[in-house]
Amino acid sequence: MAKLQSVRGTHDLIGDDARAHLAIVGAARDVAERYGFSPMDTPIFEFTEVFKRTLGVTSDIVTKEMYTFDDKGGDSLTLRPEGTAGIARAFISGGLQNELPLKCFYHGPMFRHERPQKGRQRQFHQFGVELIGVSEPSADVEVIAMAADILDALGILSETKLELNTLGDAQSKEQYRAALVDYFSAVSDQLSEESKDRLVRNPLRILDSKDAGDRALVADAPIFADYMTDDAAAFFAAVQDGLDTVGVAYTRNPHIVRGLDYYSHTAFEFTTEALGAQGTVLAGGRYDGLIETMGGPRTPGVGWGAGIERLAMMTKAPSAPARAITLVGLGDAGEREALRLSRELRHAGLTIELIYKGGIKRGLKRADRINAAAAVLIGDDELAKGAVTVRNLDSGEQADVAISDLKDHLSAYS
Ligand code: ATP
Ligand code: MG
Repeated sequence: MAKLQSVRGTHDLIGDDARAHLAIVGAARDVAERYGFSPMDTPIFEFTEVFKRTLGVTSDIVTKEMYTFDDKGGDSLTLRPEGTAGIARAFISGGLQNELPLKCFYHGPMFRHERPQKGRQRQFHQFGVELIGVSEPSADVEVIAMAADILDALGILSETKLELNTLGDAQSKEQYRAALVDYFSAVSDQLSEESKDRLVRNPLRILDSKDAGDRALVADAPIFADYMTDDAAAFFAAVQDGLDTVGVAYTRNPHIVRGLDYYSHTAFEFTTEALGAQGTVLAGGRYDGLIETMGGPRTPGVGWGAGIERLAMMTKAPSAPARAITLVGLGDAGEREALRLSRELRHAGLTIELIYKGGIKRGLKRADRINAAAAVLIGDDELAKGAVTVRNLDSGEQADVAISDLKDHLSAYS
């Protein structure tokens, strides 16, 4: 029979890798809860419409990257490529309009059919936050400050740069779009095939192109700031002022446009030089039109998502869990006592690794492999006297310890 393999672009999280992901989620959750955000968990698949309507028909995700299939009932379903659409759907279908502002965080797997490479998988994980129902710029400031605090808690803030832009309001966007169409139409023969297509469908996305020829043209393209309405400019000024107030450093980058069509006003990315080509670790923005687009009441929102794999590549190995103490039962009575004691000692807060079988030799080998701090040897003879032998695995010293004193004795190891 052919050997079964994992699907291209997916990966198993084992041991320290799994621990690193949990540590990142734990650290991010701590910070998010201090900001007053609550957990939220939506299904990993939704009706395809949920993503088609929200992500915009011209986005890379919808045109190329979605895992879409028909289920047995004939419905078209899609594995979620990102988290915001599902939360907006839950907001509408759950009738959460009376719960505003809704402040939530989520984490879990996302799915995109793209070319796998370092820092880019087909199943990857995100931690993200959404703040729904607040149109004030201070909401943008808070979610960005929270992102910075999470990167700081992970010890990697200094390796990242916050790049900030505004996409303005609808009127600003329309004026700018017209200017871009004028500019790029004049040089359209020099554009990549993909950007020629974007020029018709969504010219703003040419600014996001990774093609070298496109990038050269983008360098001289009209700047959005020149087409912004006064309202949009005031909003952006307030966001920058707020970031200055809370002490979050940023640089402005007019080419941060974000791949998804639903953004307006603030757009931002935390980028790093540490990961090569896949340099964006956390990205987000304001999406005031999203919920209305989905058929809900007009409700503003702002949020971001971060790639946990990319964060994990930047963080040091998580601190190891407490060193275990192995319990080795020798003989029938010893094994039974080891089983009983292991549970009692765990209830006392100790980390216990029970050796299931194989005697002293196998027990000590396993203890060595897991870097246990001590081994408790429970033989029939000592047991008859109500005692066990405790061996310190660093010094090799042994002591006979009464079972009634064992808990206290072992607490010195934790
Ligand atoms: P990129 O430009 O790298 O394709 P994106 O704009 O598609 O990123 P977003 O949709 O903003 O990414 O997702 C937010 C974050 O999720 C990214 O900054 C990144 O850290 C992570 N991410 C996105 N796609 C992948 C992927 N295929 N594999 C691993 N992480 C990813
Ligand atoms: Mg992408």
